[in-house]
Amino acid sequence: MRQMIIIGSGPAGYTAAIYAARAELQPLVIASAVEVGGELMNTTEVENFPGFPEGIMGPELMERMQAQAERFQAEIVYDDVASVDLTGQVKKVTLNDGSVHEALSVVVATGSAYRKLGLPDEDRLSGYGVSWCATCDGAFFRKQEIAVVGGGDSALEEANFLTRFADKVYVIHRRDSLRASKIMQTRSFANEKIEFVWNSEIAGIHGETQVESVTLRDTETGEERPLGITGLFIAIGNDPRTHLFHGQLDLTEEGTIAVKGRTSITNIPGVFAAGDVIDPTYRQAVTAAASGTVAALDAEHYLASLPEELLAPATGHVDSGSAPVAGSTVDQEGELVGEH
Ligand code: NAP
Repeated sequence: MRQMIIIGSGPAGYTAAIYAARAELQPLVIASAVEVGGELMNTTEVENFPGFPEGIMGPELMERMQAQAERFQAEIVYDDVASVDLTGQVKKVTLNDGSVHEALSVVVATGSAYRKLGLPDEDRLSGYGVSWCATCDGAFFRKQEIAVVGGGDSALEEANFLTRFADKVYVIHRRDSLRASKIMQTRSFANEKIEFVWNSEIAGIHGETQVESVTLRDTETGEERPLGITGLFIAIGNDPRTHLFHGQLDLTEEGTIAVKGRTSITNIPGVFAAGDVIDPTYRQAVTAAASGTVAALDAEHYLASLPEELLAPATGHVDSGSAPVAGSTVDQEGELVGEH
């Protein structure tokens, strides 16, 4: 049995691992079999993560976070979680390979998945013109003609942001009216660089090594036509990855895992959540990393409150009195108890 298992290997998961490992809790990180490193693995250059003035490639940033966690003896397993039983004091996490891992605390940092269009060339050209993140990739499209798919607030926010760089931004929407808020609609209609393409869906994305064009299909007539663009931003919503926890962890109306106030504390004692899986709003690498810190500190504080006989058999346990609980700020009820 361990003191802590962290599910997820994006900025939230690895930052939680760095903090927990430095506190000598020897956390086990379930990093996934196919999506190690999370969404940043799909991003090219990250220009807005503090400390990298020249920018850093998304995958390299995640490799560095992983190395930093491993430096302090975090253990990483490259498999996906098949099921969890979080209800007891000892939590059980079963992986796809059938192995069962037990811990006194679990940090859920499973992130969120951007919705995809489901087109054959979408993944192949991801990072080569196809993107899910305007703030990450917009600056690569200076003076170019690009498109955003979607009719919600995210699509219009991205489109407006992208006009800082691009000469023209098409907003391709499958209906003739927008889902986005009125204020975003007004702002977008007033933006001369934005052109709306109504009743249209993307039928194909084309380009050998970089996006060169898309095929538009009229959703009413079925008629198809090409549109030359070098970038396609997909903003059709995203879903927090919560399926493993349904029936155990409470969710918010937005579908994220519910936590108490600004903490990472869920409805189950000993289970903490961090990053995009609790965040319907900001969804940035740096906010996810900060959220991972909160979860590690909350979990540390929770572990320190457990009776010695429960802690003693757990890997990573340090005799009470010698394990500092660095900077913990909240108890399981979400009350402030320490210093910031
Ligand atoms: P959303 O509101 O669910 O909008 C998704 C959009 O994508 C809809 O217009 C939808 O079309 C379209 N869409 C969905 N699946 C599609 C598909 N397969 N092909 C083509 N189009 C598809 O998602 P969101 O824009 O990410 O916003 C999520 C939440 O965050 C909302 O509550 C939003 O208000 C909020 N948000 C707020 C702000 C802000 O206040 N500044 C910014 C961003 C997001 P239909 O309309 O036809 O369904």
